[in-house]
Amino acid sequence: MERLPLFFDVKGKRCVVVGGGEVALRKATLLARAGAKLHIVAPELDDEMASLCKREGAFVCPIEFQPCCLASATLVIAATDYLDVNTAVSDAAKALSIPVNVVDQPALCTFIVPAIVDRSPILVAISSGGASPILARSIKRLIETLLPARVDRLALLLRQLRDAIKGKIRGFDDRTRFWEKVLEGDIPELVYAGKEDEARKRILDEAKRASAARGEVYLVGAGPGDPELLTLKALRLMHKADVVLFDRLVSESILLKLRPDADKIFVGKQKSDHAVPQETINEMLVRLAREGKKVLRLKGGDPFIFGRGGEEIESLAAAGVDFQVVPGITAASGCATYAGIPLTHRDYSQSVRFLTGHIREGGVPLDWAMLAGEQQTLAFYMGLSGLQIICDELLAHGMDPSMPVAVIEQGTTREQKVSVANLVSIREQILVDEIKPPTLIIVGRVVSLREKLDWFRAP
Ligand code: SAH
Repeated sequence: MERLPLFFDVKGKRCVVVGGGEVALRKATLLARAGAKLHIVAPELDDEMASLCKREGAFVCPIEFQPCCLASATLVIAATDYLDVNTAVSDAAKALSIPVNVVDQPALCTFIVPAIVDRSPILVAISSGGASPILARSIKRLIETLLPARVDRLALLLRQLRDAIKGKIRGFDDRTRFWEKVLEGDIPELVYAGKEDEARKRILDEAKRASAARGEVYLVGAGPGDPELLTLKALRLMHKADVVLFDRLVSESILLKLRPDADKIFVGKQKSDHAVPQETINEMLVRLAREGKKVLRLKGGDPFIFGRGGEEIESLAAAGVDFQVVPGITAASGCATYAGIPLTHRDYSQSVRFLTGHIREGGVPLDWAMLAGEQQTLAFYMGLSGLQIICDELLAHGMDPSMPVAVIEQGTTREQKVSVANLVSIREQILVDEIKPPTLIIVGRVVSLREKLDWFRAP
């Protein structure tokens, strides 16, 4: 590229034209169209130039060119028939770093004036880099025939609507797609046919539809049961969602906080009751979001802790669906707190492990030797049916048989029940207490603190 094309704002700026003849007139006319403050330097003016100067209120300097004529000029065009004058203008301008054009003499120019197709605000500028102004002009004629006559009206309409559309369609990419769709459709034809009001209405209608149609999935942790343990963000999105997919673990009192007119779909999820398979849930989320819905995927506890939340958003990401994830209070944290059991304690436990007690064929693949050690707390999720195996493994790996164990049923809710015993006696205790799932099992010395710290009384 020999030169950098730019569109120069000369409105109200002093632009000097040296010359008073026909060529100078053409350049002065162009500058006047762009709103420049004309300053004409020429000992004599042609009639037409004189009347342009009058019409435009140009400042006329009726003298031979002198470098002082360029004082505070924004740009200068030399259009005289005399090489020495043109060269003097070029030299003086270059010395003052003022952009200069000398008509038909590219070597003397720091800028050239392109051939233009003016359908303002659409402006096409063509340059042959001084190689052949005639070729540039023939390309200009070609473009003139290609450009719709009313493309200026279209550009003005789009300019008028820009801010309104920005307010309706917030994402930059979404907006780009929207405008591309508008321009590829039949709306431009309406403008070219003079039906601008109809075109305006159509664009605004399409924008309304586009902004409404952008679906999204909110993967939200609902906490362990007590509705007051919902985060503010969870609650806000629960009020916004059009459709809700929820698990068995989400409590009734939390479901009451959903928008009453939202569609509520139960997707089960319980060890023995996979009401809807995971793949189907993933597909449902994608399909509903693509229908333009705000979809709430509400999960018990925290979606990223034994919640398969990662898998669900993986399929959303792969499908290009927008999503947000909101953490929730996980069962271990909620149940332990409401049972008066601190998960860590300076004297008894320096770490806490969240473990699955879900028994597969061949047992739970856990490092039992490590888990049997002191000074830690074990929190087992999904462990009730595997409690026997958990206790047996810990005992077999050397854990103290008197190690306290708590089994918390429906923690944080009004139905909360807590069964406390030790590694040996807990199985019998849960039968006496008639403990049923869902339960969280806590193994560790911290469980004994419950004697002093038990605070929760169901309302
Ligand atoms: N994502 C959830 C866990 C899902 S796995 C979370 O972060 O809490 C399901 C298991 O969580 C249940 O089997 C049970 O072990 C535990 N759980 C969830 N809510 C519970 C509650 N209120 N009381 C006791 N256990 C609960």
